[in-house]
Amino acid sequence: MSQLMTAVSSAREVRIYIANTTTLVEEARATHDLSPISCAALGRTLTGAVMMGMMSKIDDEKITLQIKGTGEVKLIVAVADSHGNVKGYISNPLAETHINDVGKLDVGGALGRSGEVVVIRDIGMKEPFIGRTELISGEIAEDIANYFYASEQMPSAVGLGVLLNSKGFVQQAGGFIVQLLPGASEETVSQLEANLAGVKSVTDLFEMGMSIQAIASQILAGLGMEALETYPIQYQCDCSVDKMHGALLSIGQSELQTILDEDGQAELVCHFCNRKYMFSRDELTSMIASLN
Ligand SMILES: [Zn+2]
Repeated sequence: MSQLMTAVSSAREVRIYIANTTTLVEEARATHDLSPISCAALGRTLTGAVMMGMMSKIDDEKITLQIKGTGEVKLIVAVADSHGNVKGYISNPLAETHINDVGKLDVGGALGRSGEVVVIRDIGMKEPFIGRTELISGEIAEDIANYFYASEQMPSAVGLGVLLNSKGFVQQAGGFIVQLLPGASEETVSQLEANLAGVKSVTDLFEMGMSIQAIASQILAGLGMEALETYPIQYQCDCSVDKMHGALLSIGQSELQTILDEDGQAELVCHFCNRKYMFSRDELTSMIASLN
């Protein structure tokens, strides 16, 4: 089971979100039949998004994290709620796998190292909050850290990782977001920087058998740790016939008429879970009538 933990330093100057998303990212890999590089790219994005979703105190808030690139991978989307559910897709599930000069899957190369990070926070009001920043490396963790700093004025350190086994299945996946809270002292900042410099990749630490609790206390070494909560997190799509019906209605009467005339039925596929929804001639006819 995938898990997320939140904790603060004793003096409440630092907050950490840390997650083991191994089963969650493996489910995404199996759902979308991802190549290794596409799995690493989507898995890092899902891991970042599920932590960002948990930052919300608002029950019905949904957060959408979009990573837009100019390379082989044009778009990665992850949608998370504040209950630990996340879903996502990648424009190119079979991107070609390259290894970079530090021996890791070259996610930045696949995204093209330029593009945009877009964060949409929807709290059910009319206008959602939308923040945008430039992609700085395409490695996703750095790009999310830059987003927090530039768009939400929240200095953060972000680590994200996906490790695959020789069969291309997910062996380890996870990450952390560490945030400096207002009023953090100089000493705390330097201690935290020193700690973070000594933390290897999360997936390497999982491989060594470390838990998210142990990694969190390593990141907060010398600052004291107060564990707040641990939550189950999962890959879960909330699509339904009703939502697909609504999506189909929203394309408008004349488009629906064209589909009816040309195909006699409509098949919609959910981007997030690949479930298929069929709408028959009769259903399309009554939808068109309902728009009159
Ligand atoms: Zn779905």
